[in-house]
Amino acid sequence: MTETADKPSLNFIEQIIEKDLASGKWDGRVQTRFPPEPNGYLHIGHAKSICLNFGLAEKYNGSFNLRFDDTNPVKEEDEYVEAIENDIRWLGYDLDGKVLFASDYFEQFHEHAVTLIKKGCAYVCDLTSEETREYRGTLTSPGKDSPYRDRSVEENLELFEKMRSGAFPDGSKTLRAKIDMASPNLNMRDPVMYRILHAKHHRTGDKWCIYPMYDWAHGLEDSMEKVTHSICTLEFENHRPLYDWFLDQLGIFHSQQIEFARLNLGYTVMSKRKLLELVRDKHVRGWDDPRMPTLRGYQRRGYTPEAIRTFCERIGVAKMNSRIDIAVLENCIREDLNKRAPRVMCVLAPLKVVIENYPVGQTEELDAVNNPEDTAAGSRKIPFSRVLFIEKSDFLEDAPKKFFRLAPGREVRLRYAYFVTCTDVIKNDAGDVIELRCTYDPATRGGDSPDGRKVKGTIHWVSAEHAAEAEVRLYDRLFSEENPDKLPEGKPWLDTLSSTSLATLPSCKVESSWMQAANAADWTDGIQRVQFERTGYFCLDADSTKDKPVFNRTVTLRDTWAKVQKNNAQKKS
Ligand code: ATP
Ligand code: MG
Repeated sequence: MTETADKPSLNFIEQIIEKDLASGKWDGRVQTRFPPEPNGYLHIGHAKSICLNFGLAEKYNGSFNLRFDDTNPVKEEDEYVEAIENDIRWLGYDLDGKVLFASDYFEQFHEHAVTLIKKGCAYVCDLTSEETREYRGTLTSPGKDSPYRDRSVEENLELFEKMRSGAFPDGSKTLRAKIDMASPNLNMRDPVMYRILHAKHHRTGDKWCIYPMYDWAHGLEDSMEKVTHSICTLEFENHRPLYDWFLDQLGIFHSQQIEFARLNLGYTVMSKRKLLELVRDKHVRGWDDPRMPTLRGYQRRGYTPEAIRTFCERIGVAKMNSRIDIAVLENCIREDLNKRAPRVMCVLAPLKVVIENYPVGQTEELDAVNNPEDTAAGSRKIPFSRVLFIEKSDFLEDAPKKFFRLAPGREVRLRYAYFVTCTDVIKNDAGDVIELRCTYDPATRGGDSPDGRKVKGTIHWVSAEHAAEAEVRLYDRLFSEENPDKLPEGKPWLDTLSSTSLATLPSCKVESSWMQAANAADWTDGIQRVQFERTGYFCLDADSTKDKPVFNRTVTLRDTWAKVQKNNAQKKS
């Protein structure tokens, strides 16, 4: 066997790490972190970052920690802190007590700032934020020095101390790094390190009225935690010189920043600002709406943490931004659920069927396989009786030849039960079909043909008397455009919110043994998941009551969108 055949190729970050391990750069250590700002719930992009960082630490026998980057008091809340921790655990990662907060380092950040002032590398500036922007220049023109740039070290120390003690109003002064106003990299043009903000912080309360900016704080956080490989997304690539500059000026532990492409998914948005807007303005039911790309939404939708991890691994790490087709994620979900979800029959749009030659009042029990993919799952008994429900869409009055389901005079197999033939169609005054009359062939019990008679179609059904009533919610793409962030002619992103992303079916009929089949203990998160034969994978929603279960459709059995797109493409050509 060649070396490449038994050793999967390394992604570019693994290559960097293996080179570092070989050269002894970090004394053989690998330490990564996941640094969310607690200003929203985690989404699938975050999951990608968590899987990557945690996965690297695990693979190289290193360590990983969660660190809340809570340097902005205005948008951050404890609600998010708790939700983020829970979601990471749900994903399957044990935090093992390694939960850190940037706000615990405020005192040290302040000391480091004083060190830079003493070195002549930072100054207090009185320009307003608007003036600061003007002075910064543009990509094509250099910036201008601030008139406060040459304040003495003593004056800067004194002013900075006063900033901290609350002597100045919000926005009246900043502490800035003294780097180079002519730098081609705008981030290096004397960036702001501290701003004045009299705001209550979720953890430090009123202790501080100056708060560090992201670029100033982030490298210090990594350094203090002795993170070796500080992995972030591509938009921070041209912040890296600043990250390096701060750590070099201070001469402290210097983590290495490495950028990778963020995950973008089709037909959704991933910016926390936009997700918050969807929730706040009630375009969705909450952060855990099953249409949201948040981990809470996915959990409620019935996605499994195992499948999400497989997805994150499968898409790999890249250095170029791209958009991943949602079908890739859905396929991972299907693959996992196919192996693990017990099968149950549920009729989503019920049509009554009376088997005329079946004795009134009789019930018999038929054997049904719980999961053909898992022999250990065994079988169950399902009741059969004279009155049944089948799916409305499984009957057509004027059926074309290739319609292998029920039609007047045609025979079909009822899954695990009998062959039945439609003998009569009953309609209401409006002409809608409301009931079918059928006969069954007692010789076909179990769905086998005794005389080799061929029946092409097999449909699902439930016994009317024995079925439970259920509400079923079907979900579709939240947006009708693949990239809502980039619409032609500056169309606002909310304009492409799909009006058909949720369909509620209030009175579905489900085999009442579903409860026995859907054993919550079989799933790491205790959520009950099943496959409704022929209609998809479903999970039990928290809105369920004792009398009426509510199911969310997790995913269809096949990628129906691929078919739609293929048909459209064929029509066009
Ligand atoms: P937003 O820009 O919407 O506020 P963010 O990226 O700033 O989101 P953070 O809470 O700062 O959100 O993110 C925490 C970590 O998750 C960061 O290290 C960031 O690089 C990573 N991350 C965020 N979004 C994605 C994504 N779509 N793909 C991969 N990693 C991501
Ligand atoms: Mg951020």
